[in-house]
Amino acid sequence: MALEIIESCVNCWACAPLCPNQAIYEAAPHFLIDADKCTECVGDFADAQCVAICPIEGAILDELGVELNPPGSLTGIPPERMAAAMAEIRAR
Ligand code: SF4
Ligand code: SF4
Repeated sequence: MALEIIESCVNCWACAPLCPNQAIYEAAPHFLIDADKCTECVGDFADAQCVAICPIEGAILDELGVELNPPGSLTGIPPERMAAAMAEIRAR
């Protein structure tokens, strides 16, 4: 039972100080979670603290590989609308 930080992490440092188990550590090229220490915050907080603070959609996954802040969840921009905007920008 542990979460995972992936390569879209921008090394903002927001999550590490909030972890009740000191499970998050600086590494290259991005922060990582020590799976042996992560409890998913069960027993300490109602929500995973790293997920609650992380500003990057898709940077933290659950143990099944599911994005915990999925596309659009933080920006409020529907993924299909973002994809259309990016396609338009690339076409310029
Ligand atoms: S879910 Fe909780 S225990 Fe696990 S890394 Fe995030 S803050 Fe730490
Ligand atoms: S809060 Fe998110 S982006 Fe910032 S260091 Fe943690 S995982 Fe990376």
